[in-house]
Order: sequence, then C-alpha cells, then structure tokens
Amino acid sequence: MTGNAARLHAVQNITNRQPFPHKAPEPLSNLWASDVFTLSKMKESLPKEVFKSVKKTIETSAELDVSIADVVALAMKDWALSKGALYYAHVFYPLTNATAEKHDGFISVQSDGSVISEFSGKVLVQGEPDGSSFPNGGIRSTFEARGYTAWDVSSPAYIMATDNGATLCIPTVFISWTGEALDKKTPLLRANAAMNKAAQRVLSLMGNTDIAPVNSSCGAEQEYFLVDTNFVNSRPDLLLAGRTLFGAPAAKGQQFDDHYFGAIPERIQVYMQDVEEQLYRLGIPAKTRHNEVAPGQFEIAPFFESANVATDHQQLLMTVLKNTAKRHGLVCLLHEKPFKGINGSGKHVNWSVGNVTQGNLLDPGSTPHSNTQFLLFCGAVIRGVHKYGPLLRAAVATASNDHRLGANEAPPAIMSVYLGTQLDNVFEQIKDGKITGSLNAGVMNLGINTIPVFNKDAGDRNRTSPFAFTGNRFEFRAVGSGQSVAGPLVTMNTILADSLNWVADSLESLLSSGSDLDTAILKTLKEIIDQHGAVVFGGNGYSSEWHKMAVEERGLANLKTAADALPVLKEPHIEALFDKLGVLSPVELASRFEIYAEQYILAIEVEAKLVVSMAKTGIYPGAIKYLSEISATISSLKSNGTELCNKRLVEISTLVNSMMEAVDKLSAAIGQHDFDNAEEHMQFCAKTIRPIMDEVRKFADLLEGEIANELWPYPTYQEMLFVK
Ligand code: ADP
Ligand code: MG
Repeated sequence: MTGNAARLHAVQNITNRQPFPHKAPEPLSNLWASDVFTLSKMKESLPKEVFKSVKKTIETSAELDVSIADVVALAMKDWALSKGALYYAHVFYPLTNATAEKHDGFISVQSDGSVISEFSGKVLVQGEPDGSSFPNGGIRSTFEARGYTAWDVSSPAYIMATDNGATLCIPTVFISWTGEALDKKTPLLRANAAMNKAAQRVLSLMGNTDIAPVNSSCGAEQEYFLVDTNFVNSRPDLLLAGRTLFGAPAAKGQQFDDHYFGAIPERIQVYMQDVEEQLYRLGIPAKTRHNEVAPGQFEIAPFFESANVATDHQQLLMTVLKNTAKRHGLVCLLHEKPFKGINGSGKHVNWSVGNVTQGNLLDPGSTPHSNTQFLLFCGAVIRGVHKYGPLLRAAVATASNDHRLGANEAPPAIMSVYLGTQLDNVFEQIKDGKITGSLNAGVMNLGINTIPVFNKDAGDRNRTSPFAFTGNRFEFRAVGSGQSVAGPLVTMNTILADSLNWVADSLESLLSSGSDLDTAILKTLKEIIDQHGAVVFGGNGYSSEWHKMAVEERGLANLKTAADALPVLKEPHIEALFDKLGVLSPVELASRFEIYAEQYILAIEVEAKLVVSMAKTGIYPGAIKYLSEISATISSLKSNGTELCNKRLVEISTLVNSMMEAVDKLSAAIGQHDFDNAEEHMQFCAKTIRPIMDEVRKFADLLEGEIANELWPYPTYQEMLFVK
C-alpha cells in the first residue's frame, strides 16, 4: 500500500489499536539485576580466593589473574543455563555507534555423538569474531580479517532475554590482530586510566597519602521520539534515515509548551514501564522519565554509574528503547532532529571524577573558596575545555547532530563553560590574586507557612551552555541523542588528564622552588584563569552577541558543521595529546577520522538519494494528479460557459517546476565523486548537497499546503505527532 491509501490505513489502524496488555509491575526487589551476573552472584558461586581476585580487578582495575578464568567461566555458564541461555555472545562496540555481538552456542559435540554444554576460561577471556566488515579506517584490510574481542571484567555480564530465547552477553573490547583498538571501549578504559594517573599526582602533591583509584562517572539523560509504526512504514525517510526529509509544519507545534512535563499519555506510560522493567532486570538504574518539549518527545535518565559501565548500559538502553517500541507498535527515533521546526533530541552527559578516599573531586561543598582540591580539579576542566574546545566539538560531530547544535534548542557549536554565580565569583577572586570567601547561596523563604524554607543552590542553571557546572558535576549537553557516550567521555577524561598533569607539573615546580603549598595552588589557579578564563561564559549562549563575542573577542572556535569539526582530529597537537597519554596511537586516531568522515558522507548521501526518490515518485505524481484534476475542471467548466480562475493551476505548476529543477540539481550533485580527500568531500556534502536538499524541501513543503489532502502521499506532521 502506498500514497494516501497508506496514510488512511495508518490512521485507521491506530484508531482501532488494541491496548498493550496491562500487567501489574513486579516489585523492584524481584526485578533488580535479576539478569546480571553481579558481584553478589559471583560471591555465591565462586571459591573465596577467586571471588576476591575478580572483585579486586573490578574495584581497583588491578590486573586480572587469568588462571582463574576457567572457574569464573564455569560459574557464569551454570548461571546462564539456569536462566535458559543456550548461547553466549561477546558484545563489542564498533566505531559506528552501534553495539555488535557474535553468538556462539555452549554446545559441544562428543565423540559418541552426545552433546554437553561447555564454556572455558579461554573463550570467556578472548573471542575472535571475523568482523572484517566493520569500518576500520585503514587499520586493516579485509584480507587481514583477524580481530579479537577480550573480556572487560569491569562491566558485568548479563542475559539478554527475548521472546525467542536468552543469550549470555559478555562486554568486551575489540582489537585488531596488530593490537590496535577498533572500538569505543578500549580508548575509554585507557582515557580513564590516564585520568586516574594524573589525578593521583595532583592528589598526592596536595598532601593526601591514602588515595584510592580515581574513576570517572557518567549519568546520561536520553531524549527520544516515539512515532506509530504505521506512519513510519509509509515514510521512506523515517524508515531509512530516521528523520523526515519533507513535511510542512502542523498548525500547532510546541508553541504552547503543553507537552513539556505534561501528563504522560497512557500508551506511552505503558511503554515506559515495559522499558524500565527490562532495564531493572539488566541492572540499569532508570530513575527519571518525563515528556520533553516537542510533541511525541520524551526523556529517560538513569542514575549515574562508573563511566565504563554507564557507557555499556547506555548502549543497552538505546537497544531496549528501540526493541520495546516495536512491541508497542511504535518506532523509537534516536535521531537528533526527526522533525523540522520542533525541538530535536540530545543526550546530556553528566560527568564527574572521584574515588572512595577523597570522594567526588568536583564537589565544591558549601565554601568552594576554601576547597582548594575542588578548585584545582575544576580549574583543570576549565583549562581542558579552553585548550581543546574544538576537540570536544569534534567528539559530537555527526551529520545528524549538525541539525541541532546552534539551532537555538541546543547549545551552540562554540564550546564554553558555565560555572554559576558562586564559582564565577571565586575565580574572579583568584584572578585578583586573593581568595577571601564564597558568596552565600541563602535560603528560599516564600513566607508561606505551609511551604518549608529550603536552601537554595549556589548557582542557577543555564540551559544554553554546552558545558555547564551543575552543582557537583559537569554536564556536556552537545552530545547527540543517537551517539555512543564513549567518544565524549574519552575526550573529557583525556583533556582532564592532560590538564591535571599540567597542574601537577606546575605545583611540583613551584614547590621545588620554595613556594608553600597554598601559594603554589593559588599561583597555579591564577595562571589557569588568566590563560583560559576566556572559555567561561555565564550569559545566553543562543544569542548572536555571544556568537560574535566568542569568536572575535575571546578567540573561541565556532565549528558549525561536522565537516568543519572532524578535521580537528588530524591536527598535530591533538595527535600528540592522545599519543602522549596512551589513549589512541596516531594510527588509531587517524582511523577514527577516516571512519567518522565516511559516516558523515554516507549519511548525507543516503538522505540526498531519498529526497530525490521521494520527490520524484511520491510528491511529483501527487501534484500532477491534482493539476490534471484542476485543468480538467477548468476545461469542462469552460465548455459549459463558466470560468474557473487558473491562478491555482499556475501557482502549483510553478512550485512543481521549481521543485523538479532542484531535484535535477541534487541528482547531479550526488553523481559527483571527484574529490581529492575526505575533507573536500565532507565540505561538498555540507555546503552543496545539504542546501540543495533544503531547496527541494522548501518547494515540496509549500506544495503540501496547496494540493488536495487526499492526494498527499506521505503521513503529515499533524498525523505523526498528534495521532496517538
Ligand atoms: P536534569 O534534567 O535536571 O539535568 P536529571 O536528574 O534528569 O537532571 O539527570 C541528571 C543526571 O546526572 C542523572 O543521570 C544523575 O544520576 C546524574 N548525576 C548526578 N550526580 C552525578 C555525578 N556526581 N556525576 C555524574 N553524574 C551525576
Ligand atoms: Mg540535564
């Protein structure tokens, strides 16, 4: 079924939809981590010494004693079999933002033809998926296909249960035969280790003697859209590109703000509960849910966890969101901008660093001016964002995220840091060379007896900042909704490691030249704020004044598109940064540029092809049919002696002609393949293909408002966003 018939059918299906069978939620105690091979399950099933060794590796990143792998594998297998799993999978995270898994059976055939289930330490620790079709950015050729997966002990194994069976899933890293990282997890673990090492240096210079390993934490807020499957099936753009490439705005959009934080529609709430139940089973602490700004848009935020586990959980969460939607007759869109004219979706990555001995190192306490440890860590972040702002921009550079950044619904492409009034003031004092005190946040007293007096936060919020301090963590808000959080976390941990090393060097040299610790700290902080204070900004990040001031007066970069941002990965000082800290070798970094550039180009080419085909095979035929109806009517009326004004006919044919001219231009542009390098090709996509796509769309969207509704071939914005 195509065209208008499909639209009508979709609306009818939705109207007659049987509600998803309601079931009472199970108690949290039954659900929580029931499908995870947790430390407590290990404790029950492993010999004491083995358990202690695994626990030590998980908690302190101590080297894994491989001799215990057989024992762990056996316990893991028994547990998995008891949960009905017949297969296991090494799960890994290729550079495409996706999650990959290769399944193998526990089955082992014996010489007498009988079978037993088997799972050795060797296969737990190491796998060898072919995986040669994953993009590797020139690290290996397809004929050199060997790649390994290796068990990440610090991220727990779990059971992925579907209606058709269960699989034991083991989080792993994915590396080439030559040892290069082909995935997103390896650099994350390395960046965390580099940050830990640098943090240890600073903490011990501060006089701490008992210092536990420092880890980074991440809590990611995830925005998403839900659209009925019936509509998606008749929209090739949503089906293949995850966003609408055509569509006139509905008369009503988000202008009333009546969806934001509104009551969650029943159908959606049933879906959310289904999602949350699965997340709880997987040990993912889903905590917050609400309607978002745009109609059809929602948010879910789990409680924060260690960055590595949070990243794996984030990938799982996206999978669960998508798979569960199908069961509910919905499609979950994680694209950053599925609908033009209403807000898109992002992922806010809340990030902090800390350990069990010193606590959260980004927690200022109530008197930040006297918390020098916090000030040094916070200062290190400020230095990092200033020095490596373009790199942070590159970490969120995708074809889809370009629609969001700088569009006054998400932070601009200019990277700046928001600190809030209290910290702004402390850093101002540091600049003046003398710290005297912290502004008091005060209490909120409404003078209403039934409303208790409560303490205010020390700083307000600023939703226009891409990198905002929010009380005890930073929140990186420019991350795309469909992206893995690994890249942003790698970047944040790496630039922090670099800055903490700088801080440690500075303290060391001042101390060795006779400074006392307090003077050394103040001097170090003053240098940071003098050199890097330009990145601190508390005003409106959406305003055009800021865009001008940031670039012209403060020297900050405004890398508007991914085509502008990705080449940052090729800059020598970026290569040196990752290499020096052992996060990515030059070869690994170069491969990332190649892959991300290719993904960018492919994404835009697919969209451009869709624009051409939808315009030619859907919109043009609909418009022509309408034109022929009008012109037939004009002729027949004329023969009856009545005149029908042909103004509509002329207007609509002009729009059709203009649209088809743009379509031809776009076809020609897609055919162009003559580029010297990826940078040039990306710029062509950004500066030539995208604007022509917009041109086609402009005429098509005008046509949607002109021709008969019954001839319009695709579900409209009104239908997709409001028929539930
Ligand atoms: P908001 O929408 O107000 O920004 P939410 O409560 O929706 O806040 O999400 C905040 C996220 O930040 C949650 O995932 C939360 O667990 C996480 N978070 C809180 N404290 C920290 C911290 N110290 N480090 C990292 N993430 C944190
Ligand atoms: Mg937030």
